[in-house]
Amino acid sequence: MKKENVIEATNLTKTFGDFTAVDAITFEVKKGEIFGFLGANGAGKTTAMKMLIGISIPSNGKATVAGFDVSKQPEDIKKNIGYMSQKFALYDDLTVQENITFFGGIYGLKRSQIKIKSEELITNLGLQEVANDLVGSLPLGWKQKIAFSVALLHDPKIIFLDEPTGSVDPITRRQFWEMIYQTAHEGTTVFVTTHYMDEAEYCDRVSIMVNGKIEALDTPKKLKEQFEVDNMNDVFLKLARG
Ligand code: ATP
Repeated sequence: MKKENVIEATNLTKTFGDFTAVDAITFEVKKGEIFGFLGANGAGKTTAMKMLIGISIPSNGKATVAGFDVSKQPEDIKKNIGYMSQKFALYDDLTVQENITFFGGIYGLKRSQIKIKSEELITNLGLQEVANDLVGSLPLGWKQKIAFSVALLHDPKIIFLDEPTGSVDPITRRQFWEMIYQTAHEGTTVFVTTHYMDEAEYCDRVSIMVNGKIEALDTPKKLKEQFEVDNMNDVFLKLARG
C-alpha cells in the first residue's frame, strides 16, 4: 500500500526584497518517514522550515502539512506538529515535572492527560530520580531527550527537529537517534535538519539545499551511487561546497 504524504511542497518560495532565500522547492514527505533536510549555513533550511510550521507566509508556491495549507490554516498546523530547536529546549528554572506540566498545558492537554503522559515520559526516560530536579541542573543530552519527548506530548503527526543534537556527545546522539527511530516506527513523521553527516545516513531520505534550491533528494544509498562516493559527507561536499 502506498503511504500517504504528510508534507507536500510545490514551488515553495520565500523572498526578502530582491533576495530569494527559498527558491521554488518541490518535495513530499511520507507518513512515518525520517526526512533529513540538509544544506550549508545560509542555504535556506530554517526559512523553509518556518514556512512549513506555519509561522512565515510563502512569497510564492504552496505547501500542505498534515493536510493543512501553510498559508491559510497555520493554526491547524500548529496543533498537528511538534517542534524542537537546538537553542530553545526547556525552562532551566523549572523542574522536569513542572516543564512537562507547563508544556502539556500549552499543547492543550487536559490535566488528566498530562498526568498520564508525564508518568509515561518519566518512566520511559528513567527520570524517576530527577523528576523534581531543576532542568538547569541536568546534562545537555538529558535536556535534549526530555525536550524531544515534551515536543511529542500532544501526539503530533509530524515532529520538526532543527539541529537537535548540536553540541551533545556521540553516545547521547546515538541514544537520541534511537528515540527518533522509535518515534518514526510508531508512525510519527520526523523532519530533521542536521550538520552531522553520520546522522544523514540514518535518514530514510535526504534532501540537500544549495542557495535556496533542493539540488538532490533521495535515499542515502541512491545519493551515494549518484555521486559515486561512499559516504554522505562526500555527497554533501560535492554538492553544497561545489
Ligand atoms: P543555518 O544552517 O545557518 O541556520 P539556513 O540554511 O537555515 O542556515 P536560513 O536561516 O534559512 O539558512 O537563511 C537563508 C538566507 O536567507 C540567508 O542568506 C539569510 O541571511 C537570509 N534571511 C533569512 N531570514 C531573513 C530575513 N528575515 N530577512 C532577510 N534575509 C533573511
